[in-house]
Amino acid sequence: MEIPAGVMRDMQEVGRDLYQLSLVTSHGGNLSIRAGHDLWITGTGTMLGRLKERHISRVGADGRHEGPPPSSDTLLHQAVYALTGAQALCHAHPRHATALSFDVDLFVPCDLEGQLHLKEVPVVAPGPLQVELLASALQSHLVVLLRGHGAYARGQSLWEALHWITALEESAHIAWLRDVRDAAREG
Ligand SMILES: [Zn+2]
Repeated sequence: MEIPAGVMRDMQEVGRDLYQLSLVTSHGGNLSIRAGHDLWITGTGTMLGRLKERHISRVGADGRHEGPPPSSDTLLHQAVYALTGAQALCHAHPRHATALSFDVDLFVPCDLEGQLHLKEVPVVAPGPLQVELLASALQSHLVVLLRGHGAYARGQSLWEALHWITALEESAHIAWLRDVRDAAREG
């Protein structure tokens, strides 16, 4: 199995950025890139900040894989590629966005960048239908939150998906700071 150089480079660089920006733990999150009817995806439990070729799996449309056991989110990645024109998908654990996900069904950024890029971010509750609900939400949104867990962003490249994850976390952090400031004023 030969991983295209561009696929490997994007996974390594975006994975390292996600880790260095504290958007995933050492072993959290996952990444994939569409490859025709197949997809390249990070192996289950791999360290996004230290990806090597041996950590990347190729999964066919029939579910068979070459390489290490693929991410436990593989079914979701396949569902998103089946429903959307996305070429890449990124899953991370942005902490302010995840904290806000407990309290809302829809996160609407208050900052101008967030409004411009994301408009609104649906929050899906974990449960037996979460794969279908997350994939369906990604048909009409760039990024979605799984309540109490993290975010999934689609893009034409991993770089675009990274942009939406970082935009979401920036918007959520700003919303959090406003809440803290308002609480201090009222206190
Ligand atoms: Zn996760």
